[in-house]
Amino acid sequence: MSDLVKIRRPNASASQEVPQAGPDAPAVYMETFGCQMNEADSALIAGQLGRAGYRAVRDPASADVILINTCAIREKAEDRVWGRTSQLLRHRADNPDLVIGITGCMAEHLKDKVAKRAPYISLVAGPDSYRSIADLVDRARTGEAVVDVKLDKAEVYDQLDPHTDDDGVSGFVTIQRGCDKFCTFCVVPYTRGRERGVAPREVLRHTRVLAERGYKEVVLLGQTVNSYAYEDVDFAALLRTVAQVDGIERIRFTSPYPVDFSPRVIEAMAEEPKICPQVHLPLQSGSDVMLERMRRGYSRQQFLDLVGALREAVPTLALSTDIMVGFCGETDDDHAQTLDAMRQVRFDFAFMFSYSDRGITYASRKMDDDIPDAVKKARLREVIDLQEQHTRASHDAMIGQTLDVLVLGPSKRGDKTLGRAPTFHKVLLPPGAGEPGSFVRATITGSTGRSLLA
Ligand code: SF4
Repeated sequence: MSDLVKIRRPNASASQEVPQAGPDAPAVYMETFGCQMNEADSALIAGQLGRAGYRAVRDPASADVILINTCAIREKAEDRVWGRTSQLLRHRADNPDLVIGITGCMAEHLKDKVAKRAPYISLVAGPDSYRSIADLVDRARTGEAVVDVKLDKAEVYDQLDPHTDDDGVSGFVTIQRGCDKFCTFCVVPYTRGRERGVAPREVLRHTRVLAERGYKEVVLLGQTVNSYAYEDVDFAALLRTVAQVDGIERIRFTSPYPVDFSPRVIEAMAEEPKICPQVHLPLQSGSDVMLERMRRGYSRQQFLDLVGALREAVPTLALSTDIMVGFCGETDDDHAQTLDAMRQVRFDFAFMFSYSDRGITYASRKMDDDIPDAVKKARLREVIDLQEQHTRASHDAMIGQTLDVLVLGPSKRGDKTLGRAPTFHKVLLPPGAGEPGSFVRATITGSTGRSLLA
């Protein structure tokens, strides 16, 4: 395995800028639901449409095309999309030619069923259709009902630059698409196809483009990001190579899969100062029976051992996780074991949710969704309450620490400056504390429960 990837320097960061479209160009309004992969995909779609002469607008009322980039991971996520598309439909009263389209995982999950449920949606494009998204939108604008949900085992969107209107400080770099794990509850391998890595030269080109635009932090994205492989380059080698890019000061990655955390990756995290001390490590359940039924590939003890190894290598590590309650057959004892595992690890932060049947997964076909909703709700409440205690304790433990905070820009309410600690905690700094993209030395003085105060 090579530790540093060699790439040619000349033109290595050549980017395709999105040209400024005139006021008469057709206007596209986009909303994104779901994970960071979806946010990165929305930027990819925006780049494709921008290069094809479309202009982005922030107000759906002024759009010729409305695209909703969707998530199918849970039933609730799909319900929110349905609610939002029917709200947006009102804009057709002023613009009868308005095209409303959905892209992403829900498009892939439901395919032509979308038209049955919502005939006003005239464009349905899956996650592997974005290379030709401008063509698909053009066709939908002629009145054609367009459905393109073919999955493509090779598509990694090589050479296509995204276009973002983000903070210009922290940017996503997709290094892997799809997933091969087939956890029994999960729809992703069906909606995003099989795992494939982006070539290291392309990862580096993209990272350099961001560095040249002034970004200071990159977040490497993949569904199981640490299983990344491209020819003889593994994730550890890629991390060390990305760390060589001048101008990029911080590297994060999400989401790693517990069984793919090799000692080489842990070593790279311990040795390379640009790699942030933060890992999102999805536990899902603390019960071996549930983990087996979910086909996660690790036991509770293996997960705890991995947490120990990570914390030993990176003592300031912040850990977040995903917890799912109410999976098929989950007993009170299984649930108690999840709470117990949470107490042992004391995650700094968690995404917590109830299992919902996604229709095409192994669990949906072969297992009984037999936990009553009321029990799921009660278990979720317990998990959330416990995590809130741990999050509060994690914030309290940071009070008095002095950290290098990366300034992202003004806070949402505009009365503070928003920054990010190496551990990914949001930090609210005094107004005017620094320019976006600068680093400030800040002492943590308190917590709002969601953010640290400095
Ligand atoms: S690793 Fe499992 S939970 Fe994660 S995307 Fe793949 S199948 Fe879904």
